[in-house]
Amino acid sequence: MARTDVRRVRWALGTPFVTALGLKSHSDNVVVRVSLAGGGIGLGEASSSLAMPGQTGLGMAAAIRRLGRRFQGRDLRDIEQWVAEAWAAEGAWPTAVGAFESALWDALAQREGVPLCDLWGGACRELETVLSLSVLSPAHMGQRARRATRLGWRFLKLKLNGRDRQSQDRDRLRAVHRAAPRARILLDLNQSYTPEGLADFLHQAKGDGIPIELIEEPFAKRDWAALKEAKKIGGVPLLGDETIQNVDDARRACRGSLLRGVNVKLAKSGLLRSRAILDIFDRALKGRALLMVGCMAESRVGLAAAVHFALGLGMFDYVDLDSDLILSPTCVRGGYERDGAWIRLPKNPSPGLGLHQ
Ligand SMILES: [Mg+2]
Repeated sequence: MARTDVRRVRWALGTPFVTALGLKSHSDNVVVRVSLAGGGIGLGEASSSLAMPGQTGLGMAAAIRRLGRRFQGRDLRDIEQWVAEAWAAEGAWPTAVGAFESALWDALAQREGVPLCDLWGGACRELETVLSLSVLSPAHMGQRARRATRLGWRFLKLKLNGRDRQSQDRDRLRAVHRAAPRARILLDLNQSYTPEGLADFLHQAKGDGIPIELIEEPFAKRDWAALKEAKKIGGVPLLGDETIQNVDDARRACRGSLLRGVNVKLAKSGLLRSRAILDIFDRALKGRALLMVGCMAESRVGLAAAVHFALGLGMFDYVDLDSDLILSPTCVRGGYERDGAWIRLPKNPSPGLGLHQ
């Protein structure tokens, strides 16, 4: 590798994004640019997030600089070996490793002269995405749900917060269902429930006649005992997000049949590690696992890598890639085309991620 450039950026959000873990009005991210000695320049982006508060702009940038120094002057012959080495060295900075890995794949695909998604199987050319709704007042969430379905969104992921006054979440769910009765509703509880609270909430939703397609990360991160307890509740499939960062987490969840699926993110696990996690779920659930790909607050740079990964594999039931709609517009172009809920590869895609700054 000839060179690594690291740039810290602060992206503004169009409107604040709110989950059970807090409120975010800007995102301190890091953009990395790697140049391979044999040709090929790749971009990657590490995003800060409410779910990973320790991943600061300063810390992520320092970790990427260390990775740059480690691989300086070496020839990229075996990306799997480089990525394994990067995780071993900087595993405490998953977003940094993920960004560095994305940049390597972008550069490699450019060297090969193919879009990045083709290196990952080239399974499809377009994806229907999920829209996430911040946890707000019931009326506000209902308004947003109505607007979204009018614009063609079919999958709505509601952020809820079990720590709010009891019945708030029930009112939010009812308001969204009333405003968008045909929407397919996914819930992300972001670690805010207990098994008892979840049982009550689901009982009420059932009484209200509101179908819930799945529930993401209901309990505290890696609270395996709570997940075991929740097996008794049944009814709605549970997906792991914050809890599943690596293959050990995936194996543990699958061994106890604790989750029906997983939301993988490049910011948590990079590409190769995400693929390994998906395979563990896929095998354990014999092809019945519910597979989602998600994002943090990446601009087009980071999101394009997730888009190409998802297009290449073509194995996701849910594509929760919408951070480009949450951030205010940035100067980055290319990577993919957005048309409402749909994301597509351009007709004549450029090699790699095809980003232009
Ligand atoms: Mg989540």
